[in-house]
Amino acid sequence: MNSIQINIPSGANTIIQELEKHGHAAYVVGGCVRDSVLGRNPADWDITTDALPEEVKSIFPVTIDTGLEHGTVTVRINHVSYEVTTYRIDGDYEDGRHPKDVTFTRSLEEDLKRRDFTINAMAYNERDGLVDLFDGIKDLEAGVVRCVGSPMERFSEDALRMLRALRFSAQLGFDVEEDTFAAIRALSPTLAKVSAERIQVEVLKLICSLHPERMEQVSESGLSAIFFPEWDNMLSCQQATPHHCYDVGHHTIVVMQQVPATKVMRLAALLHDVAKPVSKKTDNKGADHFVGHPSLGAVMAKEIMRRWKLDNATIDAVCRLVKYHDERPELTPRNVRRMVHRVGLDYMDDLLTLQHGDVLGQSLYEQQNKLERLEALRQMYDVIVKEQQCVQIADLQLNGKDIMEAGIPKGPLIGEALEHLLDMVIEDPTRNNKEFLMGELAQWQISR
Ligand code: ATP
Ligand code: MG
Repeated sequence: MNSIQINIPSGANTIIQELEKHGHAAYVVGGCVRDSVLGRNPADWDITTDALPEEVKSIFPVTIDTGLEHGTVTVRINHVSYEVTTYRIDGDYEDGRHPKDVTFTRSLEEDLKRRDFTINAMAYNERDGLVDLFDGIKDLEAGVVRCVGSPMERFSEDALRMLRALRFSAQLGFDVEEDTFAAIRALSPTLAKVSAERIQVEVLKLICSLHPERMEQVSESGLSAIFFPEWDNMLSCQQATPHHCYDVGHHTIVVMQQVPATKVMRLAALLHDVAKPVSKKTDNKGADHFVGHPSLGAVMAKEIMRRWKLDNATIDAVCRLVKYHDERPELTPRNVRRMVHRVGLDYMDDLLTLQHGDVLGQSLYEQQNKLERLEALRQMYDVIVKEQQCVQIADLQLNGKDIMEAGIPKGPLIGEALEHLLDMVIEDPTRNNKEFLMGELAQWQISR
């Protein structure tokens, strides 16, 4: 028996032991084995067994039919869910998308063989210890992502695996093994057959990883040409300006590294300069300018995130951050309030974080000044929050109903009146009282 020991959570162990009591074999498998060996905390514990789904269901009192056609039953133990999947052989991935059919098998080896990478193809239980038929441990130790079997064959079965290879290399800080990478280069165009939803999952995991710089290999491999050609243009877009020391793509990578690893922040970092390649103008002194790239970038970012089928809340948040990432108001309280109003109170924290990352991804030219300026902006923003200064219509001491009572008919005029009053209050916060606002409203009606 191998000397490697894994602490299986008690729920998963109960499932394995119950299955064994009924004459079956069962193991934890895949990501949880890999992560345990690496000393990382597994996200979930998947179980693989020779028991058929119906047999699994008959043994455990609480089960959910998660994906019976793929052999997966969810078993609940003490309010924790475990996916229990029958050993299977995947049929042809005829369209490079999903297995046309799956066949159940009584052989663990067959089940491990269908898995994508050697580091993901290990199983473990207390009875047998580690089952590592494809030298997964060796690859974990060497830090390589390598296909189980022939990379060309495995990527032809399911093209998504190519992107998964780079995703795991980014999460684990591993290299993609040479033959595996060569196969990705050769087959990258076939990623076009894979659904946007599946691509999205891998892209998000990749950019939210410890190594977002692996996006460089996403381009080298030819994969971004299929789902994110804008990225290739960013990597080849030089910036002749004292503010920058990298091309747009490498600048973007540093900004991703500087912001927290959340979906919105990493997407905003990835896309903030997406319009630079198409906005670039070189003046007669050879200096590059990118006028209008933030607003055009917001338009492009929306198109890209729709292509990836991201949800609307994420798209809205990211587009706002892209649109305002270069906003640099003159540092007066009034101007900062205006900025907060434009950007939206809920987005300011993220925007300041993005701007901070953006500065750190630029050259040292003026960097100290830029950071001090940002710090001053943050302090002024903090005062606005602390004093609960009015920067949005909802904070006005007067509402739509008051305006209608003042004789303005229901309709777009109400919104206009509120915007006008907010403008007055942003100018001077002491004006946010009903008396002043009613007077101002009367004036506004006359002047129109
Ligand atoms: P994560 O920590 O991100 O969940 P994971 O290794 O558990 O990583 P999953 O996508 O949850 O990855 O897949 C679970 C296991 O199923 C993998 O470890 C691998 O063995 C297998 N697997 C998943 N997707 C594929 C695929 N497209 N082709 C072959 N095997 C796959
Ligand atoms: Mg998993």
